[in-house]
Amino acid sequence: MAEQIGKIVKVAGPLIVAENMADSKMYDVVRVSEKQLIGEIIELRGDKASIQVYEETGGLGPGENVYSTGMPLSVELGPGLIESIFDGIQRPLNKLREVCGDRIERGVSVAPLDHEKLWNFEPKVKVGDAVSAGDIIGVVAENEVTEHRIMVPYGISGKIVDIKKGEFNIDQTVAVVETENGKKELSMLQKWPVRKGRPYAEKLSPVKPLVTGQRVIDTLFPIAKGGVAAVPGPFGSGKTVVQHQLAKWADADIIVYVGCGERGNEMTDVLNEFPELVDPRSGQPLMKRTVLIANTSDMPVAAREASIYTGITIAEYFRDMGYNVAIMADSTSRWAEALREMSGRLEEMPGEEGYPAYLSSRLAEFYERAGLVKVLGKENKEGSITAIGAVSPPGGDLSEPVSQSTLRIVKVFWGLSAALAYKRHFPAVDWLTSYSLYAEKLGDWYSDNVDEEWVTLRTDAMRILQEEASLDEIVRLVGMDALSPVDRLTMETAKSIREDYLHQNAFHEVDTYASLKKQYKMLKLIVENDKLSREALAKGVELDDILALPIREKIGRAKYIPENEISSFDGLIDELKKEIVGLDGEGEL
Ligand code: ADP
Ligand code: MG
Repeated sequence: MAEQIGKIVKVAGPLIVAENMADSKMYDVVRVSEKQLIGEIIELRGDKASIQVYEETGGLGPGENVYSTGMPLSVELGPGLIESIFDGIQRPLNKLREVCGDRIERGVSVAPLDHEKLWNFEPKVKVGDAVSAGDIIGVVAENEVTEHRIMVPYGISGKIVDIKKGEFNIDQTVAVVETENGKKELSMLQKWPVRKGRPYAEKLSPVKPLVTGQRVIDTLFPIAKGGVAAVPGPFGSGKTVVQHQLAKWADADIIVYVGCGERGNEMTDVLNEFPELVDPRSGQPLMKRTVLIANTSDMPVAAREASIYTGITIAEYFRDMGYNVAIMADSTSRWAEALREMSGRLEEMPGEEGYPAYLSSRLAEFYERAGLVKVLGKENKEGSITAIGAVSPPGGDLSEPVSQSTLRIVKVFWGLSAALAYKRHFPAVDWLTSYSLYAEKLGDWYSDNVDEEWVTLRTDAMRILQEEASLDEIVRLVGMDALSPVDRLTMETAKSIREDYLHQNAFHEVDTYASLKKQYKMLKLIVENDKLSREALAKGVELDDILALPIREKIGRAKYIPENEISSFDGLIDELKKEIVGLDGEGEL
């Protein structure tokens, strides 16, 4: 296995330099010292290699051996991925703990996937069928929720000459393909280098929303299936809650969650909480369609650097099966810090705030692997990866490099505001600074699938919120009394949009999720109220009389109407009309 033996000349924390490495390639994996620590070559100069080591390097010293494997850092792809919890280089945490106990020892080799476990392989092709990369040759039910589709690996095409059925482990042959270069045995296991995107047939422009059930997202700042979004916000503004809500509620088939914990025990919380989450789609644990990648604070920074590539490669693999995958990275700032630390150790010329000059291109390499694509394979399936990265700028200041680089790439920006979080307006998405470049394009979908009024309602809501912001300025200068009744009504409607609509309690059993139908009905009620109130004002009705109507309180409680009682919204609209008409006295509104 070891092709070449280099020698350590220098150890600097997670970085070591070895000589006699001229035959190695960039990004090759190496084993360091007799302890067999895992490392990756991140710089080659002459016969000297700089190696980032994914394990503690304490005790290593010059003169020790470095064994090249000649292979790039790769992941194992196959049945068993779902429900797994991996570290940044795909070592299964549970198994590591079984082998080493709580303190993970160095150099332990544990396969990412279980190679013994038998899976029931159900063939989908027959002898004589022509197949090529991406074609599905069979399926395995990983659990009650997720069907794992076994695909012909990239680079192989030919005729099926043997196909199995029944129980196999991931190394056993399940199909034999007669190719131009002879017979190839296929197992259920594929390997793929993490730093290289998996191929697809064609990139498509996203046209459908990823429905999240979160009103401020779906209505005001929607994300497309295959879209890219950033959630920047200071500490405590709700980034992690947003990511968890999306993992739980978004209509994705598969969730890949990459956690780079901000606080000491945050990742432990994720590891404890995720397995408890119940999937609203199936009533089963959410883990049954989830892969978790966890960087706990006791793991070396280099593994954190690798983790987002490990995550997106796994996401691509499920995309290739024709699934909609959502990948969350919380937080990419912690990832960028790992990049900065490694760059510092390499003594590279530092860029802004010490981050390497290639920070932007590395971030882009991650986000660019998201998207809606036509996957390989004769079925012409579509698959998507939606990528959502949290960013935690120190002090919430978005002018720092990680935020700036991210904003140049992503198309959706959910800016969390400390001020809103302080007022306990959650999700603290600032409606004045946030945006979605998909909103316009998704308009048609919403019109066709929810209601043709959707786009108008959204525009109305945005306009009223913006008017409130300018009126706020006036109020600050001369006080509320200076406003005309019409402007005061605008302020009241804006307040209703904020408090009755945008505010959404993630921890309330009904409010935590709102279907698009419910979102439409809720917003319709608020905007209709505004419209009718304006008409009443025009007819001389007093604003205070309008504001005193009992319907206002009911609008405030509409968010707690359960999904199966949505029809009661129609009654509310009728009530609203009756009450306002009643004010007019003449009943002819
Ligand atoms: P961050 O990851 O930005 O540091 P968190 O996501 O941990 O912040 O959120 C901090 C706290 O804010 C949560 O523990 C919770 O109390 C509150 N919070 C955030 N979002 C919501 C929400 N949608 N509904 C209710 N509470 C929320
Ligand atoms: Mg957080």
